[in-house]
Amino acid sequence: MVSRVIPVDPFDLVIFGGTGDLARRKILPGLFRRYCAGQMPKDARVVGAARAEMDDADYRSMVGEAIVEFSVRSDVDQGKLTAFLENLSYVAIDARGENGWSELAQHMRRKVVRAFYFSVAPGLFGDLAERLNNHGLTDDDSRIVVEKPFGRDLSSARQLNQDLAAFFDEGQIYRIDHYLGKETVQNLMAVRFGNMLFEPLWNSQFVDHIQITVAETVGVGGRGEYYDKSGAMRDMVQNHLMQLLCLIAMEPPARFDPDAVRDEKLKVIRALEPVEPHHIVRGQYDADPTDPENLPNYRTAVENPTSKTESFIALKTHIANWRWAGTPFYLRTGKRLVARSSEISIVFKDTPHSIFGEEAGRHRNVLSIRLQPNEGIKLGVTIKEPGPGGMRLIDVPLDMTFADALGPDGAENVDAYERLIMDVIRGNQTLFMRGDEVEAAWAWTDPIIEGWTNRGDVPKPYDSHSAGPDAAAQLMRRDDRDWREVTP
Ligand code: NAP
Repeated sequence: MVSRVIPVDPFDLVIFGGTGDLARRKILPGLFRRYCAGQMPKDARVVGAARAEMDDADYRSMVGEAIVEFSVRSDVDQGKLTAFLENLSYVAIDARGENGWSELAQHMRRKVVRAFYFSVAPGLFGDLAERLNNHGLTDDDSRIVVEKPFGRDLSSARQLNQDLAAFFDEGQIYRIDHYLGKETVQNLMAVRFGNMLFEPLWNSQFVDHIQITVAETVGVGGRGEYYDKSGAMRDMVQNHLMQLLCLIAMEPPARFDPDAVRDEKLKVIRALEPVEPHHIVRGQYDADPTDPENLPNYRTAVENPTSKTESFIALKTHIANWRWAGTPFYLRTGKRLVARSSEISIVFKDTPHSIFGEEAGRHRNVLSIRLQPNEGIKLGVTIKEPGPGGMRLIDVPLDMTFADALGPDGAENVDAYERLIMDVIRGNQTLFMRGDEVEAAWAWTDPIIEGWTNRGDVPKPYDSHSAGPDAAAQLMRRDDRDWREVTP
């Protein structure tokens, strides 16, 4: 099966922070892949912008090296790379000064989509928006893309929203959550709303509970200073896990359009119940004594020997509405865990009566949506174990792993960033967070974090390469449930 690629309209894309880590690792390799796929029109232009002085040739050479280094495929086509780089230029610009702005304004074309990617620290968002406006770059064809973190609490998120709203309409602001750009996440909506099979069961009458796990094997790496001020709650739960929860829990939108989808997500966030302190487990990773690499523990990695920031969190929450009353949602995320694995599991209830007797054991249908690695959706069903010897039941997966079902072309692994950037150019905001969603998510998160501060809460240590603190397992066991295994 060959995937269809629909070219987008001509555009000028400016990447503020075009020399930074995100631009080099994700944005520019993603654009190159869209170029190779034939989705970028020939006259699309990309402008890197940062303070460092360099000319176009230096920039192209830097980007070329980054694309080779960070490309998903090992075989970068040199001819295509050279042609792609010809569309690139560079402007030395200071978000907080006047340097470079007139040059950028002269460079930009009119009557094409003009997209400005703010791949810089959020403290610069307001400065960039103001200067874009001052230099006449904020017409109806312009749009801005902003990266996480979008605030660190409700008041800072509100301030950021106001800073951007001073110069841009909400319809021009694209707040990226790259989890929403993942193929499986969109497939979750296709499976839910494109089939008759699941939706009638998608409620507290039939669903026992829902688990969302985003497990990483990496530690804080080079982001220690940022991460220690943030922690797993701000860095992962408030945005990525919350967005996944919304897509699982939302009512069917009337249409697959940006505001219809985002209205439904917002209702979910607003219906989230406050989390009881004993329904949250925070953890901080220790070193692993058996680790041949001798990787440091969290506090050493962030160079803060008394840090109380969590690198792991597990919590139970409820959604107070008719569909989900009584069905717990368990969320879990952490660093330096046993495997890299992101998965959503819808665990259905037991059958009302087992005709096979107690010896058949407990069998539950589980719909598991795997985001990484090996994106795909599996439905666990109970069948008879083949062979003679009576009725023994086993659980087997109905596997909708895309690579198997659709073949290598159909399952082309389009990275979340490439998809989302093309959506920006197309003007489709469905997979981007609206300002009120972000604020509502902070309004739910803030009291939880304030509670830790007020109580002087200290995260529980857990071994690196484990599944997190034991208390996280107990959070489930108290409810006679278990986390699904974190497997690669
Ligand atoms: P980074 O590696 O530190 O790069 C920052 C970029 O901003 C550089 O190009 C820098 O170049 C430029 N810059 C800094 N001050 C500037 C100014 N006053 N005017 C113009 N340009 C300026 O950061 P990053 O990791 O790419 O992250 C960028 C943003 O994306 C941050 O908000 C981050 O939280 C977010 N993000 C990053 C990742 C990731 O994987 N890296 C993931 C999610 C979100 P000069 O110093 O030469 O100006």
